[in-house]
Amino acid sequence: MIVPFIEVVGRAQAGRRAVGAFTVYGIETAVGVLAAAERRGSDVIILVSAEAFRSRLGRPLVDATRALCEQSTARCCLQLDHATQLDLVSAGFGAGFGAIMVDGSRLSFGDNVKLVQAATEIGLRHGGHIEAELGRVEGDEDSSSLADVGLLTDPDAAGRFMTLTGAACLAVSIGNVHGSYRMAPVLDFERLARVAQSVSQPLSLHGGSGVPPTVLRDAITMGISKINVNTELRRSYFAALNEHMAELQPGAQLLRMGQLVSQRIEDTVYGKLVEFDPALR
Ligand SMILES: [Zn+2]
Repeated sequence: MIVPFIEVVGRAQAGRRAVGAFTVYGIETAVGVLAAAERRGSDVIILVSAEAFRSRLGRPLVDATRALCEQSTARCCLQLDHATQLDLVSAGFGAGFGAIMVDGSRLSFGDNVKLVQAATEIGLRHGGHIEAELGRVEGDEDSSSLADVGLLTDPDAAGRFMTLTGAACLAVSIGNVHGSYRMAPVLDFERLARVAQSVSQPLSLHGGSGVPPTVLRDAITMGISKINVNTELRRSYFAALNEHMAELQPGAQLLRMGQLVSQRIEDTVYGKLVEFDPALR
């Protein structure tokens, strides 16, 4: 079923756990994500990247994923990830996203505030919510290229930023990156603690792929309520294709291939959901 974004992240924050947010590029992946959430009894967020949404695949992907969420017993929210322009925010809410992550991380503080304020107003008109970013999480959202750590979130500015913008959730930059970590990830927990102190809204961590479970556990304890995972899912997708290509290609068994991809995604997502909320029975 579809539930509001603030309900999903709010419940995670209240329970001192993190909700998993998983990027999909096709419905085999969405089927796998929802199957894992149903099996685990977890809430879940399904992400569509801005680039995927802008492609010809975008609108049908959103429609199909929404339909899958509506049919699912899992509590699910659909979110457009990394919109940098207001026209995309309007198009996203118009297409049925419940939340949009608005990325003003390349702007000055003042321009980031203005962008997120305007996006929040658009969201209000649609009954949707905005996640914003302060600091800059580096790397390419749609590939696994190596990335270095970007500008870190300023704890002193974070509280003011959230008050001024009215955003529902804040993406932090504390040593996390999109894609693949060039060095072993080191998260700045002191910074995270200070951000968590100055911001009452739920905090999100992008670049969850490749961060060791114990590090993620500590981040959750210190206030991370949402973790985005993309790279590990894309790797699982290709691993399933590689593994089953030889056996399925001769008969061109495409339906079976899709099912095996969904199964592999389900297993990967299930493992993440256990990591993000180990206490759930
Ligand atoms: Zn991101």
